[in-house]
Amino acid sequence: MLVAVQAFCDRCDLLNVNGLDFQHAAICARRCWLHLHRASMNEWSEHIRLGSIRHGDSHQRDQSTTGLLGLSPDRLDWDRHVVIEEKPSASHLFAAEDQALFYAAMLSVATGSLWGISIYVSSKRRYFEYALDQPRLDRLNKSLDLIGFLKLTNSVPAGPVIAACAGCSNAEFCGIDR
Ligand code: SF4
Repeated sequence: MLVAVQAFCDRCDLLNVNGLDFQHAAICARRCWLHLHRASMNEWSEHIRLGSIRHGDSHQRDQSTTGLLGLSPDRLDWDRHVVIEEKPSASHLFAAEDQALFYAAMLSVATGSLWGISIYVSSKRRYFEYALDQPRLDRLNKSLDLIGFLKLTNSVPAGPVIAACAGCSNAEFCGIDR
């Protein structure tokens, strides 16, 4: 499994992608394209600003990611080899999953031992745990294909109205009323 994970990480390095790219790609190709081409409206989103302040407050005492270069998971359990991400609700859990799995893949290669992920959903007061197995690695590779394509194309992809549009900072750009 580590060999396949290494091959995935090599592709990621080549394409210079990060965890957030995977989160956006899992939700919406257009949102991912805007993020990759630095045209996302996140900077102007009150919702995102408040979220990052709350996130900063809740991680003030945590030192588990100190010294980590190029990766920004919420927390790491170095003893159990688990990446921990935190979410206020279970909506779009699959997107947080892909982001955390990307970190798990990178850490697996860096440490020579397979990492897993754990997503803490505060509204449910529950952890959702997943292994980095072959089906999930296949999903990440597929997502990476999409990210690679979106990086190269200058055309904004279609943005069909989906549930995520309601909380998306690009809704105005997409002409979607909130
Ligand atoms: S508003 Fe909807 S279609 Fe537009 S980028 Fe966001 S999620 Fe995608």
